Amino acid sequence: MNELLVFVCDGAPVRGEIVSISTAWQAVLERRDDPPVVRKILGDFVGAATLLSASLKFDGTLIIQAQSKGPIQLLVVECKSDLSMRATVKLSVEPSEINNEASLGDLLDASNTGRLVITLDPSDREPGQAPYQGIVALQEERGGIIQPVTSAAEAIGLYMQNSEQLETRIWLASNNSHVGGLLLQRLPNSGGHAHLDPQTAAEGWARIQTLGGTITNKELLTLTPETILRRLFLEESVENGVRSFPPRQIRFSCRCSRTKVADILRMLGEEEIQGILAEQGAVETICEFCAKPYRFDAVDCLQVFKTQLLSDATRPPSSGH
Ligand SMILES: [Zn+2]
Repeated sequence: MNELLVFVCDGAPVRGEIVSISTAWQAVLERRDDPPVVRKILGDFVGAATLLSASLKFDGTLIIQAQSKGPIQLLVVECKSDLSMRATVKLSVEPSEINNEASLGDLLDASNTGRLVITLDPSDREPGQAPYQGIVALQEERGGIIQPVTSAAEAIGLYMQNSEQLETRIWLASNNSHVGGLLLQRLPNSGGHAHLDPQTAAEGWARIQTLGGTITNKELLTLTPETILRRLFLEESVENGVRSFPPRQIRFSCRCSRTKVADILRMLGEEEIQGILAEQGAVETICEFCAKPYRFDAVDCLQVFKTQLLSDATRPPSSGH
């Protein structure tokens, strides 16, 4: 089960998504050895990334990055609009040093340095054009007091609130084998919902949120999206109409390649690479997303830098005009 289901309500200006990921999430986990508490946070963000990327209006990649000076230095989840995703975490301490009772706030130093960065990168982006990026601190004002966020869902909610997005509610759950999530988004009272007067629309949004709020972690982690939709919105469906679209498949997929590693070697520079070769005989690296090993021996490295010279030589002259 790696499924994402999109639905719309007829009696409320609401679009929703339900996600259920198992083998694609297990493919992320089997390449990693993170402590359970870190895995849980990563799983929640995997759920969030798939839900958010399914609502993208363009073809491209959605990247969620959480970064801090806490035990989780960097967490990255990338999901393309075809729902292929990959995820990684970089810890600043040994996994054994992580307290399994630690909260997301502790691990991401949410009261101080923790930041959530969400990047929307269209695949047809012009060279030189920056992708859209939204950044929020992992803190929230509650009752006049600044408090660190305590969950991935809260962090995403904060981001949605701070960016000019549609009003959104999100519920996330994950464990060792499964990720589940529910997203509700308030649509403008126009288009397909132009028939709703403002009061009916406001009441509808409130009603659907209340129904959504009854979802339990257990349901998110054990039921199919279709079953969740039926359970939560049966009455709504009978009385006002709820329509779902054919489910979409989520899969694990890494975009790493030998060519991309070669680009990194070029960025490090020939001198640096020669130094590594002299010391270790070869440049060896492992993809941090899929754990695929890459090895460049002296001949490979020579080729890498020769290629750069060739591409320089074939570049059209930029001066003299
Ligand atoms: Zn990879």
